[in-house]
Amino acid sequence: MPATVSIRRCANYQSEAIQQAVGEAVAAVVDLRALVENKAVLIKVNLLFNAPPPRAVCTHPEVVRALIRLAREAGAADVAVGDMPAMHLTDQPEIAFRESGIEAVCREEGVRMCPFSQNGYREVPVPNSRQLPTVIAAKDVLDAPVVINAPKLKSHTQALYTGAIKNWFGVVANATRKASHELAGLEPYSGSLVDIFSVRPPDLTVMDAVVGMEGRGPSEGKPRHLGLILASRDAVALDTVALECVDYTRLNVPHVRLAGQAGLGEADLARIAIDGPPLREVTVSFALPPKAFGQPPRFMIHFAFLLWHIRPKMHTDLCQRCGACVRQCPVGAIEIGRKNARIDRKKCIECFCCHEVCPHNAIGEDMTVAYRIHRWFHQWHTDRRRLQG
Ligand code: SF4
Ligand code: SF4
Repeated sequence: MPATVSIRRCANYQSEAIQQAVGEAVAAVVDLRALVENKAVLIKVNLLFNAPPPRAVCTHPEVVRALIRLAREAGAADVAVGDMPAMHLTDQPEIAFRESGIEAVCREEGVRMCPFSQNGYREVPVPNSRQLPTVIAAKDVLDAPVVINAPKLKSHTQALYTGAIKNWFGVVANATRKASHELAGLEPYSGSLVDIFSVRPPDLTVMDAVVGMEGRGPSEGKPRHLGLILASRDAVALDTVALECVDYTRLNVPHVRLAGQAGLGEADLARIAIDGPPLREVTVSFALPPKAFGQPPRFMIHFAFLLWHIRPKMHTDLCQRCGACVRQCPVGAIEIGRKNARIDRKKCIECFCCHEVCPHNAIGEDMTVAYRIHRWFHQWHTDRRRLQG
């Protein structure tokens, strides 16, 4: 049977509209009662850090509410909402739950919040691993009878795109996150994302794509309205369809491709059944993430480091010396100076984790002229190809 992805339109986050769209999207792909009745259900949200809903960083609380109610109505014995924010909030995840609005929804609906550090982690082997022979994953996820994945659709500076598969990065402990970030290059890093996802894939994925994020995601991009809820039993198929919805299929996002090759789901759009409006009617062309331009052209290869690079840049006037980037950096390349944070270029592996978590937008990108030209040309070329059909 082909993988099915359902798509439902939902214009905004008004509670009834979300509940209807989520309910219809889920009903189109699964008999929820058969999946959850008399079982404990964990809803794994995207809670990157303490960002309120208008910033479109975290899964919207109304989507979480809709999933809680659906699981309950279908007879779940227990429902909990869990995640672990970025490394700089490891010791105070409650801040992210509170400011994202998810804490209030959990309280109103009477369900548990589940910061994964509370119950702890377990090291598990990764069969046929690409990069990580073992991962240290949250017991809450490993041991949950049913896990519902509730990602947010966003661009991603390092992984190019974050959705269903990348949402599993929040499942693992800091040691595994660091090991993943330390892998140099997009392909190895993407392989590690697939390793993480593979240890306990979700039973159902419901994506918040009402407002996504384009450009400099997953935290500093622009919120962009799409007006969609997507659902599938197959997270890889859902990501494949979501990429098409934002015109990112052209990026050939490595972690989605690798997950398909690993047999974790369907990554071939032609083999996925869509339940909902035709893709051409819902597609919105998202601005690309800054690192979306592949390898340098051949003739530049010897001068690549000097001519063609993108690396983090500190906007010293915006830095508030809060230390979030220091705690997030996997290689200890940032220290707090007298006036602002400073990046040690020799240590930096250009993973952009600091850019992801800076609450004051003080870390941007430093691109060479060659990189900018290549980026402009790539955008122009792909837009032209798309217009030509
Ligand atoms: S760069 Fe951003 S995250 Fe780092 S110390 Fe400054 S304000 Fe905080
Ligand atoms: S300074 Fe920023 S980009 Fe460089 S390694 Fe640290 S977190 Fe990654």
